[in-house]
This record gives sequence, C-alpha cells and structure tokens, in this order.
Amino acid sequence: MVERHDNLIGGEWVKGSEYAPNVNPSDLSDVAGEYARASAADAATAIAAAKEAFHGWSRATPQVRFEILDAAGTRILAEKERLGTLLSREEGKTLPEGIGEAARAGQIFKFFAGEALRLGGETIPSVRPGVGVEITREGVGVVGLITPWNFPIAIPAWKIAPALACGNTVVFKPADLVPGCAHAIAEILDDAGVPAGVFNLVMGRGSVVGEAMVGSPDVNAISFTGSVPTGRRIALACAESGKKLQMEMGGKNPMVVLDDADLDTAVASAVNGAFFSTGQRCTASSRLIVTEKIHDRFVDAVTNKVKALKVDDALKPGTEIGPVVDQSQLDQDLRYIALAKEEGCEVIGGERLNRETEGYYLSPALLVGADNSMRTSREEIFGPVASVIKVADYDEALSVANDTEFGLSAGICTTSLKAATDFKRNAEAGMVMVNLPTAGVDYHVPFGGRKGSSQGPREQGAYAREFYTTVKTAYTQA
Ligand code: NAP
Repeated sequence: MVERHDNLIGGEWVKGSEYAPNVNPSDLSDVAGEYARASAADAATAIAAAKEAFHGWSRATPQVRFEILDAAGTRILAEKERLGTLLSREEGKTLPEGIGEAARAGQIFKFFAGEALRLGGETIPSVRPGVGVEITREGVGVVGLITPWNFPIAIPAWKIAPALACGNTVVFKPADLVPGCAHAIAEILDDAGVPAGVFNLVMGRGSVVGEAMVGSPDVNAISFTGSVPTGRRIALACAESGKKLQMEMGGKNPMVVLDDADLDTAVASAVNGAFFSTGQRCTASSRLIVTEKIHDRFVDAVTNKVKALKVDDALKPGTEIGPVVDQSQLDQDLRYIALAKEEGCEVIGGERLNRETEGYYLSPALLVGADNSMRTSREEIFGPVASVIKVADYDEALSVANDTEFGLSAGICTTSLKAATDFKRNAEAGMVMVNLPTAGVDYHVPFGGRKGSSQGPREQGAYAREFYTTVKTAYTQA
C-alpha cells in the first residue's frame, strides 16, 4: 500500500480530491508515495489562511521566528540522510548530491533563523530641526513561492526560510514532479511549531495551483524559480495585479578555458559543471569555450573522463550521474542531441542507456565543433549535454561568453591574474567563478543572474531581505 500525503492548509492536513504518484526516475516501478494535488479552491483557502495569519506572524518577536526556523534547520540536518534519500529517489540526483542538498537546506534554515534577529533598520538625522527619521523593514504580506523540480529541497528552503524570517506568511507550491521533499519540509515546520496559516503547502499543477496564486489579489508577492516561458507568463500576470516579483530562470552558462589553464583544474571544473546532477542545474556549464592551443588536449581529457563516468541508479553506491528526471526531459535532451548532429557537431556520448531497472538513463553528451550561433549553443537544454566552442583568444572567448540572452553564472579557467580579473569585471553574469565549476555556490551569499536569467532582487544571504521586506520611513517631531 503506497502512503498518501496531504496538503497543509491553515494548520490542517487537507486531503486532495486527486493524488499523484511520485515516481522514481531510476526505477519506474518504484513509487515514493502518493501526493495530494490541490485544486484552485484549495489554493484560495490557503491564501485566505495566510492572509489571516499575517497580522500575528508579522508582529511575532524575532525570537519566536528564530526558534521555529532554527528548530527546522536542526531537524533537517539531523535527518539529512533520510531527506537526501527521498530527494534522490524522487529527482534522480546521486545520493551524495541528495544528502548534500538536504544539508544545505538545513544550513539555509539556520542562517535565516539568525537573519530574523538581524533585521535591523537605520536612524538618519532629518534635514529639518527637531525631526527624527527611522527606516525600518516590514514583511510584504502573503508571499507565493513557486519552485522547479531540480533542487527539490534547497530552492524551497532558500525561499521559505527568508520569507518567514522577515515576517511574511507563505503559500508554497512545489513542482508537481517532486512533492516528497516539499511535504517533508511542511511536516518539519509544522512540528517546529509554525502557527496555523503562517506556512501553507499546496502541492499540485502549475496550471491550476500556480495560476490561482499568481491571479489572487490577496497574494502580495511571488518568488518564482523555473523556466523562461513560465516566468514570462507569471510576470505578465503579476504586472497586471501589481504584485512584487522575483524570478530566477534559465541559463546557458559559459565556462572559458584559456591556453594557460591548469588542464586538470579545467577538466574537473568542466565535467563537474556540465554533467553532475545530470546537467540539470540552472548554473550548469553548458558552453565550454576553449582557446585554440589547449582545445584538443582539453577535449581528449574531458572525453576520457566523461566516458568513465558511471551512469546508474541514483541510490546505488558509486553512481556518479543519475537518470534524467522524466520522459519529457529525456525526450528534450535526445531532440537536442539529434539537432547537434544536424548542426554539424561531432557528438561524443549522448546515448540512451539500459540499466538493471527501467529508468531515464542517458550518457553525458559532449558536442564538439560547436559554434555559438547554433541552436544547441543558444537554447537551454537542461540535461547532461555541453557544447565545446573553439575560439582564437581571450577577447573572442569573452565576447562569445557574453553573446547569450542569459546571464546567470560564468566561469573561467586560467592561471593569468590579468585574464581572471578582466573576466570577473566584464562577464555579463550574476555569478562569476575562477578555476571552479559554474555550478556550486555558498548558502550565505547572494544568488542570481542578470539579462534573461533573472528579474528582481537577489535570493539568499542578507540580500534576500530586499525581496521579502518592504521599507518604511517614519518621521517623528520630538
Ligand atoms: P517550469 O516548468 O517553469 O516550472 C517551474 C514551476 O512553475 C513549477 O512548480 C511549475 O508547476 C510552475 N508553473 C508552471 N506553469 C505555471 C503557471 N502557468 N503559473 C504558475 N506556475 C506555473 O520549470 P521546471 O521545468 O520545473 O524547472 C527547470 C527550469 O528551472 C530550467 O529552466 C532551469 O534553468 C530553471 N531553474 C532556474 C534556477 C535559478 O535559480 N536561476 C534554479 C533552478 C532551476 P508544475 O508543478 O506543473 O511543473
């Protein structure tokens, strides 16, 4: 008998009129539970509960908020193996990656527990005699959080924790593909004593639950992470209803490798950045931009590494690359691999694989001989697929790196301080990495991009308060 999991609305666990199976992409015969799918009416009830709870929560002391978030963080860290296993089972990243992501979620809750205590303001002398000016921050109100499937616990954590720390109430809709970790977080927050209505979980489809949240006049702000097309739709709806909006979307992240790079560092950074987590990271190094003299040595070394990567069941010890998340993402990856051949690339890897259990297994694909005008170099594929683009020198590498509609993360491998410094200054990206993969970030500093990748204030770190608070300026005549 598969266990059923319900939504958390107004402090009650509410049954769904419909339940969806949570299928393991490493083994399609394995169902990790059935999860309620909320209706638009359920979403409306959750929004009303969050609205009602806002008065109390926005006035709760920082100590109350600290204790709940800190307790949730402690519990997530203590249960990182259980949560990481659930994550790998529902999303398909390897177990060490799953446990690492769960631990990161715990650290994020603990960081934002502290932020609840650090949410200070300013006093500034007035230009008028006898007048004082205070600048304070308040919660925005009811915040709708909409998350993608590829980081099922870290992205929810980096939205929920700052939202609650800043005194907002939350309606959270995880991606329909990965309700397990979202439900586990809801249970942990409920156990930690979050008051009824302050945090609501509404699992279900974006076209139903997401649209109900975005369309509701009682939701004051939306924080969305996902694809560009969905983001654009949400942005239009939020503009119409005047909601505050934060969006983190796709990437086509460049990793530049210069002739003077340390080859081992460059190869390790490229393989990790492009293929770990099955390449399903918004920060994945999907364009490897390599200067002429190192190009062939780099391609040979990456090819050898990639061919040796163990693609298998995410939960199996020793697996380095888990399966693709579902059939439709696998189909998309295979379509782009076929397109790369039509566009004239030599494709290394990129083959459908069979393993002991039926799953969405695909070998990593290197698209050699790409140029930056190809569709495979311009569109986000979101799988274990990376293009190799040969360039003459650093200047051309920088220009190709910036020639994209996206701007999330950009990396360079070089031993030249001059090139690294110039790249940090001139890469058109929200995050720049030197001699590191484009993916893999700290939990206590800002995260986000520019150009088509992002809109609104940054997520994470102390900067998260820019989105989750609104500023009040108060004048007092003594
Ligand atoms: P997606 O299809 O855009 O979905 C993201 C979320 O939006 C899901 O919860 C989805 O619901 C919901 N949604 C869909 N239609 C909606 C609508 N009309 N109104 C409101 N919500 C709606 O993206 P995905 O495939 O889950 O994730 C992959 C994408 O996320 C990639 O483009 C990746 O680059 C991006 N991403 C970006 C970052 C970043 O920080 N920049 C991080 C991770 C991922 P369902 O449950 O129905 O899917």
